[in-house]
Amino acid sequence: MTQTGCEIAGRGNGKKIAIVGGGIAGVMAAVKIAQEINTEIHLFEKNGQLLQGGPWCHLHAGGMLYPMISKDDALELLYDSLSFALFFQESIIHTPCIVAYRKESNYSPSKLLSRCMLMESKYSEWSKQHDHALPLGTIDSYFAMYTREDMEYFKNNGTFEKTIHPFHDSYVKTFCKLLKNIDDIKYPFVSVREPIIDMDMAKSKLKLLLSMYSNIHIHTNAFVENISKEYNQANYVLYNMTYNKNNKNYIITADFLVNAAGFESRHLLSHNRYFLNNVSYKNLSYMFHHIKSSSDEQIECKASFIINIESFPYKNFMPEIAIIGERGTQNGMIQITPTKHKNHFQIHAMMENSSLIREISFDNQSELYFRTHKAIEHVYNIFHDFYTAQPSHLEPLWGIQRTVGKDHTKRISTLIFEKHTSYAEIQLVKGISSVSLATLLAKQLQIHFGPVNPEELGTVDQKEFIDYFNNSIQLD
Ligand SMILES: Cc1cc2nc3c(=O)[nH]c(=O)nc-3n(C[C@H](O)[C@H](O)[C@H](O)COP(=O)(O)OP(=O)(O)OC[C@H]3O[C@@H](n4cnc5c(N)ncnc54)[C@H](O)[C@@H]3O)c2cc1C
Repeated sequence: MTQTGCEIAGRGNGKKIAIVGGGIAGVMAAVKIAQEINTEIHLFEKNGQLLQGGPWCHLHAGGMLYPMISKDDALELLYDSLSFALFFQESIIHTPCIVAYRKESNYSPSKLLSRCMLMESKYSEWSKQHDHALPLGTIDSYFAMYTREDMEYFKNNGTFEKTIHPFHDSYVKTFCKLLKNIDDIKYPFVSVREPIIDMDMAKSKLKLLLSMYSNIHIHTNAFVENISKEYNQANYVLYNMTYNKNNKNYIITADFLVNAAGFESRHLLSHNRYFLNNVSYKNLSYMFHHIKSSSDEQIECKASFIINIESFPYKNFMPEIAIIGERGTQNGMIQITPTKHKNHFQIHAMMENSSLIREISFDNQSELYFRTHKAIEHVYNIFHDFYTAQPSHLEPLWGIQRTVGKDHTKRISTLIFEKHTSYAEIQLVKGISSVSLATLLAKQLQIHFGPVNPEELGTVDQKEFIDYFNNSIQLD
């Protein structure tokens, strides 16, 4: 200890793991490490609360929103989504997503179809390898395909000629009623099990798990300002980390550093540091421009707006809808996601004047209203019943999304694990990859720190946890 404040003593195997970043990556890592290793875990978050980063409401179980990604990347998203859905079973809302390509786009529906078929068969294989778990529902309900003839028949008769799929049909009927002009999309289109995630529920689960492991120490309002390395006698790197809390500096020496600082992770160890606090729309675009101008990082600042429709006619079987076109163009993707608030929807319009934020001026309420109205306009150009939509009083879901490497179309995440420098970095592009990466990290750390006596591990009794979880959800 060299400065004011106190040094935190190690317990368990005497080792300390420091995780910087209390977003989904850092929190998930803390939980998984606590399950695997008998060590002290210190989680640092500069904001007052954990899990305040960008949203992760859509399970990308097959990457259907991304026609430009490779087959292998789509498969990786599927496996990450399956791990996520298994871990957060209670948080998955089994509403399907309708995926259709805009008529102006260069994307081919036959590729969409072959991707769906591949994912269905891989889901089936995965299920067999995982005790027949079905976190996305039955295999044969993974997707259903609808042709132009089905749509025409529906428009003329108000129903399909015959049942196409018992699970998907009810949701697709709502979509058929909403679509103004059947020529606006390409055929066939699909309804696919890329469900919605109840983030509040998932966050409650994570917070509860954190509170149940006594070897996890949470430090909020704790900004990690400086990190320097030294070597121990065995020539392993140790990290001396200075963090600031309530205007006091504290030092902790960690045996292992996990960088989970999200889009700021490249700056954590850099000397060209800057203080960015309290992410809100007022400084989001500032951060975006700061990072863009100081590195070649591929980041995207985007928002999904919440709108309210006074009397929306479809109470049940409202699907998530994604009409996909080339990102950033006037025909970019329109995505509508039902929320748990009555008559409220999240809408994305992936155009530069709406969801994609490139200007530095996005710092006031009128800009927010302008962009939300633009999104509403893009939606009601295609769908009935959105004409009367209004911006809601609810905060948009916004944030900065990073990509891994130089290719901005990539959506897969990476774990860097450097044994010789006692350093790991969780590079999440999508929140749904957090469970797979945290599991991998915990396994690597277990190897790194050597075998453990399972009796010494922090454990959470499953039954006790489920009772506790259900009670706390009821109380909310
Ligand atoms: C509009 C939008 C929609 C999205 N939709 C989806 C979706 O549907 N599905 C999906 O899976 N993903 C989605 N994403 C992506 C998802 O939001 C991110 O992948 C995820 O939030 C990243 O989590 P993270 O923990 O890596 O980063 P963050 O949540 O940003 O967490 C990093 C944390 O580190 C803290 N930190 C940084 N530096 C320091 C420091 N020096 N000291 C202390 N703390 C520090 C920060 O305050 C922050 O809380 C979306 C992103 C956006 C912007």
